Amino acid sequence: MGTDVINPATGKKVRSFVEMDIDDVRSIIDDVHQTWLSWKQTSFNERAKYMLNASRILKEEKDKYASLMTEEMGKVKKAGISEVEKCAWVCEYYAGNAEAFLQPQLVSTDAAKSYISYQPLGVVLAVMPWNFPFWQVIRFAAPALMAGNAGVLKHASNVPGCGLAIEELFQKAGFPANLFRTILLSSKEVSKVIEHPHVKAVTLTGSTPAGKAVASKAGEMLKKTVLELGGSDPYIILEDADLEHAAETCVNSRLINTGQSCIAAKRFIVVAPLKAQFEKLIVSKMQAKVMGDPQADDTDLGPMAREDLRDDLHRQVKASIDAGADCLLGGRRPDIAGAYYPATVLTNVRPGSPAYDEEMFGPVAAIITANDEKDAIRIANDTSFGLGAAVFTKDVKRGEQIAEQELNAGSCFVNTLVKSDPRLPFGGINESGYGRELGVFGIKEFMNIKTVYIQ
Ligand code: NDP
Repeated sequence: MGTDVINPATGKKVRSFVEMDIDDVRSIIDDVHQTWLSWKQTSFNERAKYMLNASRILKEEKDKYASLMTEEMGKVKKAGISEVEKCAWVCEYYAGNAEAFLQPQLVSTDAAKSYISYQPLGVVLAVMPWNFPFWQVIRFAAPALMAGNAGVLKHASNVPGCGLAIEELFQKAGFPANLFRTILLSSKEVSKVIEHPHVKAVTLTGSTPAGKAVASKAGEMLKKTVLELGGSDPYIILEDADLEHAAETCVNSRLINTGQSCIAAKRFIVVAPLKAQFEKLIVSKMQAKVMGDPQADDTDLGPMAREDLRDDLHRQVKASIDAGADCLLGGRRPDIAGAYYPATVLTNVRPGSPAYDEEMFGPVAAIITANDEKDAIRIANDTSFGLGAAVFTKDVKRGEQIAEQELNAGSCFVNTLVKSDPRLPFGGINESGYGRELGVFGIKEFMNIKTVYIQ
């Protein structure tokens, strides 16, 4: 079946790809498995050499890769360049640290010698989304390949060019030709890939329904999964917060990737005495952002990735207003070509409305008022998600306690925006998924943590 790739800035077709036949996909997986059998014997030094090549190519080709993302999913070009630079960083990070992370660990027991050894599992299927088409893939692939695993990528259907470019990147870097392959396949066929006996585990980044579908199939096949799903990150603004800084950070986080980030600030929870001042600051800062051509240097907000996603977001905004929210800015579909949606601010957002209960995957700020600190924490945790959260206060000790002990999420930040960092584990709880990427935990997810016992 043919798949058209539509440039969301223009609504025009960029190219079209023919989806692969499932039998061809099965034979690709066989090839990847064969390659893995020798790859798992290679030294960390050899793997690091190729991974550092990948990092170098990413830096050299960042303009080309960023343009590809802009064309396929509308990413603002300068943000695409930063994304590719971050990919180079994660490659360097795991090239430098994988060996230390996976050192065998001696454990004293009754044995003459007993220890823990980390052995790669084999072929890992990666089902990936379009929002950070390079970062989401490379942050999986860098630790996986360094650990001695192999990868098969099923990228989102609107970014096949990015998927193929990543496959080519690893080949150019010197990795064996069939160690990391991209398959062009509809999501309906993914369960057949999970059934393949050589697929040993699955990682998925995307929506909660996609995660549930993949996890069900993987569960049936008894294959391990890591799921990085949606979020509705709360940012709490306490009475003693530096309000200007808090508002600036909330807006910058909300608008990352035109609002299409799992860890964007989505619910701004402000204590009542600060409400009016906070609303004013948020509106003026959101209003100042420039929406337009994603290629242009002064653009802050590009188009959303697809028209259907923009229309879904608009439906959520309208339903939230119908449920009692007030729209202070935006909230109208612009009458121009492309999947554009303006910076939008909703306030008096209530439970039972999409802006409170669901993930809003676009440039829409939802302001919720809390009576006091205790109420703010209650509202922050009143969600089915649990990816990230932030709290703003001048009392850093109190902020730390709230972050560590009171907010229910995988990453809790104080006085700054939630972001991923190769050195720190990243992932969620509840409907935001399970398992961790990045850091020392990320590289151990797809390993056989083997006990070796010698009498
Ligand atoms: P999806 O979650 O549907 O897509 C993500 C990836 O999963 C894609 O590769 C997709 O393939 C695949 N996929 C989807 N459904 C299944 C399935 N049943 N079985 C196997 N694979 C599947 O994202 P959408 O593009 O539809 O976006 C919808 C919403 O998801 C967004 O508005 C946002 O709320 C959320 N989302 C969250 C992301 C995050 O980082 N947290 C990232 C992307 C989306 P294909 O493209 O071929 O359908």
